[in-house]
Amino acid sequence: MGAERHRRTLAPGETLFREGDGGHEAYVVESGCVEIFTGEQATRRSIARLGRDDIFGEMTLLGGQTRLASAVALETTTLIVVNHDYLEERMQAADPLLRHLLRVVIARNRDNVQRMSNGSGTGDHGASVIDQASASADRQAALHHLRLEQAMATALELGEFQLHLQPIVRLHDHRTAGFEALIRWIRPDGSRVSPGEFIPIAEQSELIYAMGHWIIRESCRHLAELDRRLPGAQPFLSLNLSLRQFDDPQLFPVLESALADTGISPRRLRLEITESMIARDADATLLLLQRCKALGAKLSVDDFGTGYSSLSYLQRLPVDTLKLDRSFISDLDGPPAAARIVGAVARLARELGMETVAEGIETPSQAARCRDLGVDFGQGFHWSPALPLDAAAAYLAQNGQAEP
Ligand code: C2E
Ligand code: CA
Ligand code: CA
Repeated sequence: MGAERHRRTLAPGETLFREGDGGHEAYVVESGCVEIFTGEQATRRSIARLGRDDIFGEMTLLGGQTRLASAVALETTTLIVVNHDYLEERMQAADPLLRHLLRVVIARNRDNVQRMSNGSGTGDHGASVIDQASASADRQAALHHLRLEQAMATALELGEFQLHLQPIVRLHDHRTAGFEALIRWIRPDGSRVSPGEFIPIAEQSELIYAMGHWIIRESCRHLAELDRRLPGAQPFLSLNLSLRQFDDPQLFPVLESALADTGISPRRLRLEITESMIARDADATLLLLQRCKALGAKLSVDDFGTGYSSLSYLQRLPVDTLKLDRSFISDLDGPPAAARIVGAVARLARELGMETVAEGIETPSQAARCRDLGVDFGQGFHWSPALPLDAAAAYLAQNGQAEP
């Protein structure tokens, strides 16, 4: 999906559409100025002048009517294009209740528009829709979302993303056994956007597919580079998968080719899926996990203990590792319940032949408590944040361990 598809630039005086045209697109003004008007020459009547952040042309998204007014650029103007397919794609990703409500609203609006365009005052109607849009409380959030999505597609093409590696250490000797790959977005001005902000937006469009492919290829490339520099270390690499990637037909072909191209053994990859993903769609998850297993990769349940899923899935799913959520670890310094939970999870995992990783360890005492409670691995700022490749290699050279 090219970034250009969603962007359009108009020269001063250029007409975007005319009254009576068909059309399946709405627009957001990024920069410049657009005039909306009805009639021609003598009968021409201006409805609105629109600038940055204004949305217009949305009527045709409500079911392909003809345009009720014309739009012309008054100066050089850049627009983000929201087309019908895009809206459909986003609606598919939306919560079913929202989808239903939206369809009802769209159908009612369509009736209203038809009634009004048969009568008089279509121009007024156009203006009132514009006012309504600017009054909407959702507007800022929607615009932010749209801009971030647009910027992400470009950023992927321009190479603004980096993969950083956070060490995962054995708690009994604090030696590095592997890394978790965490994506970083560093804008050209040096500012950073947190993955907690952009991953959920990428997940709502097909952008997560391309981003996921990039993450898989980069992960394998990083492992191969670590091997080249430190042949004996053989760390594993954990990488995060999103629920939406389960629908990506290219997921496995990309995994297979990335492994083949780099010669990395699949056993050194650990695919992390969150417990909440399992809770949402256990059957789809099972299918996916079986394919991951068949490939030879290992599986981790991320954020374990926060997803409210039934423990019975642990018997059904071919899971290798449980990652105890950070919230349990930070509570270790507080009431004794947290320690009991951490200990119980470590015992449960051992019973089931799985390993445990404690996430978000920030202090020596948390590391010692987790080790005493039987947790196998730790990850957190106590050892290191996620590091760029060179720093990760240096960390591994100092703190790695040759034997598996
Ligand atoms: P996560 O998978 O649970 O990743 C762990 C997060 O905890 C990371 O935040 C990491 O930097 C942070 N962290 C690690 N140690 C500590 C610690 O000691 N204390 C505290 N307070 N935080 C710690 P980050 O990198 O901001 O990632 C946030 C989330 O974004 C991740 O949560 C994951 O859900 C998502 N994410 C990050 N990278 C990727 C990626 O490559 N692919 C996908 N699908 N999701 C990603
Ligand atoms: Ca993770
Ligand atoms: Ca986690």
